Amino acid sequence: MMSEEFDYAVIGAGSSGCVIANRLVGAGKRVLLLESGPADDDKFIHIPATFVRVIGTKRSWLYQSEPQRGAANRTMWVPQGRTLGGGSSLNAMVYIRGQAEDYDEWADLGCDGWAWRDVLPVFRRCEANTRLVDAWHGNDGPLSVTDTNYRHPLSCGFVAGAQQVGLPYNPDFNGARQAGVGFYQTTTRRGRRGSTAVTYLRPAMTNPNLKVVTQAHVSRVILENGAAVGVAYRIADGSERTARVRDEVILSSGALSTPKILLLSGIGPAQDLAGLGIPVIRNLSGVGQNYQDHLEVPVCGRTRKPISLLGNDRGLKALRHGAQYVLFRSGLLTSNVVESGGFVDTLGSGRPDVQFHVLPVLVGDVGREPIEGHGISINPCFLRPKSRGTVTLRSSDPSAPILFNPNYLSDQDDVDTLVRGVKLARAILRAPALAALLEKELLPGEADHLDDRTLANHVRGFAKTVYHPAGTCRMGKGDDSVVDPKLRVRGVSRLRVADVSIMPKLISGNTNAAAVMIGERCADFILGETV
Ligand SMILES: Cc1cc2nc3c(=O)[nH]c(=O)nc-3n(C[C@H](O)[C@H](O)[C@H](O)COP(=O)(O)OP(=O)(O)OC[C@H]3O[C@@H](n4cnc5c(N)ncnc54)[C@H](O)[C@@H]3O)c2cc1C
Repeated sequence: MMSEEFDYAVIGAGSSGCVIANRLVGAGKRVLLLESGPADDDKFIHIPATFVRVIGTKRSWLYQSEPQRGAANRTMWVPQGRTLGGGSSLNAMVYIRGQAEDYDEWADLGCDGWAWRDVLPVFRRCEANTRLVDAWHGNDGPLSVTDTNYRHPLSCGFVAGAQQVGLPYNPDFNGARQAGVGFYQTTTRRGRRGSTAVTYLRPAMTNPNLKVVTQAHVSRVILENGAAVGVAYRIADGSERTARVRDEVILSSGALSTPKILLLSGIGPAQDLAGLGIPVIRNLSGVGQNYQDHLEVPVCGRTRKPISLLGNDRGLKALRHGAQYVLFRSGLLTSNVVESGGFVDTLGSGRPDVQFHVLPVLVGDVGREPIEGHGISINPCFLRPKSRGTVTLRSSDPSAPILFNPNYLSDQDDVDTLVRGVKLARAILRAPALAALLEKELLPGEADHLDDRTLANHVRGFAKTVYHPAGTCRMGKGDDSVVDPKLRVRGVSRLRVADVSIMPKLISGNTNAAAVMIGERCADFILGETV
């Protein structure tokens, strides 16, 4: 075993981890950043339209759930990023912050200092928005936020069709109001993905105070006298390494891996740990509890002509698109695929409860036969799930997969919300702007009227993750929280968690911008800085 010493060790070079590493080395700290996956040197990561090709490769995790009773007993797959940039290197680049009420609710739940008025300045500070500079948006941060310069006819058809059924157009989902339909802004820069590896980590890479090790899989945090003093990890050749830290260890391994590392380190529900023969360092009942995710359900239409964004790009066409991209950084390859969408208040509660992710292509799910042919997928997803799941260990072997029971659709309200979203999506498919392009509806079915029971069966049979697992190391005040509002693990000194696992409640929207904000705040807390 070899051991080196640093001021800080950051575990996981994902959306949050890259931000923290950047900020700490920028403040003169010596930082070790450990990433389980390989470098992000795969062109399909950086060309926006090709990110789906990375899912299922060595640069992704594929977490498999236990069979889900609420989802027709299906085993569900949850892909996550496993490379520099983590999820921000694999995601659809949709830039969304959630709703102001989400963060105010966090504060009400005991997360002092996390209300909307506290986090908005951090979102603004992070952001380099190329169109918007106002009370909500900044333009001189590291995180590039841009409009896509390519808009597929089916995305435009959705935005027009949704207005034809009465939904308002919204030019900025992160501004004064979230509700409405339109085109997403994206974390891209000059036609390329702007992951946190590109925007935060790369500029820090030349700093001699930063050591980044890829293919370094952390098995546990080393604890002495109730304090984190280092990390144990395995490198590519299979040998074990340790590193010691003078100051702190920060866990940023994502909502499905951070609780695993805590549990393997002896921090978690005492009974579970004892049952696996892991010595209990700190009994924390909340570790691995409170799992939440957004689920969406496909509503698909087949187009009259072969016009899908993907699967259409062969021979001369592919050459033309490739040349256009290489020469001008424009055209189809700059599409983030999920170009359009929107937010709808289907209950009249005053807050949108459904989001649409619209793809100008027929999409399936991991583990399912692809849907052949050309078409559009309008996927409604619920924004504030009520179902809660768990992440725990199968064994004390760090290489064993987690025991993952997300409890998807265990709360009937989640099914009902998706049914309302499906009804609205079907109405938009039938609006003149889309009907002109479509031959027929493929999913859930062709008939104009489908009863609620049929739609609920469709939801249970087809719902899939939107890749936003969160909440498994929740922040709060009570004994069931894992970290305090400064992200410190309760009862363990010199150990913090900073990634989407700290969310007490999943935000109402995509999670990458929030992960960046959480990373920024963690660095602020460590460095004793305020906004
Ligand atoms: C396919 C996909 C599409 C998505 N689309 C969008 C979108 O369009 N917009 C949006 O806002 N959000 C999107 N998301 C979600 C968003 O990207 C994530 O919520 C966000 O990246 C989570 O950030 P994080 O820092 O919590 O974790 P991650 O970014 O997942 O980082 C965790 C890192 O830790 C590493 N790691 C894990 N275990 C270990 C270990 N034992 N040792 C060392 N390293 C380890 C991982 O490999 C990973 O790199 C998407 C996600 C996916 C997967």
